[in-house]
Amino acid sequence: MKKRYLRTKDRIGALYDKWKEPLWLGGYRITLDFCYDGGEFPSEQAAVSEVAARCYADWRYQSALIKFNVPACAGLNDKELESVVVHELVHVLVDEIDISPKQHDHLERVVSTLTSILTWQARQSAATQPGNVVAVDGVTP
Ligand SMILES: [Zn+2]
Repeated sequence: MKKRYLRTKDRIGALYDKWKEPLWLGGYRITLDFCYDGGEFPSEQAAVSEVAARCYADWRYQSALIKFNVPACAGLNDKELESVVVHELVHVLVDEIDISPKQHDHLERVVSTLTSILTWQARQSAATQPGNVVAVDGVTP
C-alpha cells in the first residue's frame, strides 16, 4: 500500500503543479494533505471512503487546505484524478461566494461544470499542439 500511496501522492502533486498557475492560484498558500487511510478522511457523508478530496478554503487570506483521500484516489485513472484536483482548486476560486447551506448543491454543480469546461479545454488544447498530433491511421504525420 505504501508504494501505491506514494505513487498516488506524486500523481496528485504533478496535477496540482500543472493547474495552480493556469487557475491563477499563484498568490494563494495552498496546503495539500494526503490521508493514508480513508478512515481518517473527514466527511459528514456516510460513504466516507468514497470521498476523494475535500477543500477548506479561506478567501480572506487566500489560503486553502485540500485533503486527499489517497485510497479513494488511487484507483482513479489520470482523467478522473485530474478532475478531482481541478474540482478542488475551483472550490478555492469560488470560496469567496457567500452561500447559504441550502445553496451548497448549486455551488457544487457550478464547480463541477467549471471543472468539466477547464479540463475539456486543456485536452483540446493539448491535442492541437504541434507535436501532439495523433494519427488516426497509425502513421505519424
Ligand atoms: Zn465539490
